[in-house]
Amino acid sequence: MARYNGPVCRLCRREGMKLFLKGSRCYTKKCSFERRQTPPGQHGVRRRKMSDYGTQLREKQKIRRVYQVMERQFRRYFETAESRPGVTGENLLRLLETRLDNVVFRMGFATSRNQARQLVAHGHFAVNGRAVTIPSIQLHEGDRVEVREMSAKTEYFKNVKDALRGTQRPDWLSVDTEKLAGSVSALPRRDQMPAEINEQLVVEYYSR
Ligand code: SF4
Repeated sequence: MARYNGPVCRLCRREGMKLFLKGSRCYTKKCSFERRQTPPGQHGVRRRKMSDYGTQLREKQKIRRVYQVMERQFRRYFETAESRPGVTGENLLRLLETRLDNVVFRMGFATSRNQARQLVAHGHFAVNGRAVTIPSIQLHEGDRVEVREMSAKTEYFKNVKDALRGTQRPDWLSVDTEKLAGSVSALPRRDQMPAEINEQLVVEYYSR
């Protein structure tokens, strides 16, 4: 499972926005983007006019970094999205949103996608009653995600149970706090997915 292991806060500076890659720290004053917002590197402070290609590339990189998907896998998501009926950009976003690690994060079982990915890889979750360890599993309408019985007894998930009560989550997901389980009530519509993402730029990038 390839993944980016470098410093993540510089990715926020590179994309010029908070990508919330470090969990709860991102919501505190310790967030380094709050202190410095210039792109990383010695030429970061220079102002440059961005070409159309540059804008499309940056948007693609931003989405990849938000969902923590490597280039080759992202390309495969795009090809799948293109082959499905409907709007390609929207299909792409839906595929990313319905990855198991993203759903675990959105349900509130983890404070970041990175943490969600680790929890899944360590075998703390089951999907439709079967133990899983692959964060990129694609979920469908009606799928049930639950914390496994042994894991539910750990201190981490006892604390999560309390935190879940105050968690805001998208309408397409439902969670039973007491049972530490949730399900995909419906596939997300465009208005239920992140508004700050311009997926059309990714479509243009790959259509060059
Ligand atoms: Fe980005 Fe701030 Fe979180 Fe670092 S702490 S990943 S800069 S949002």
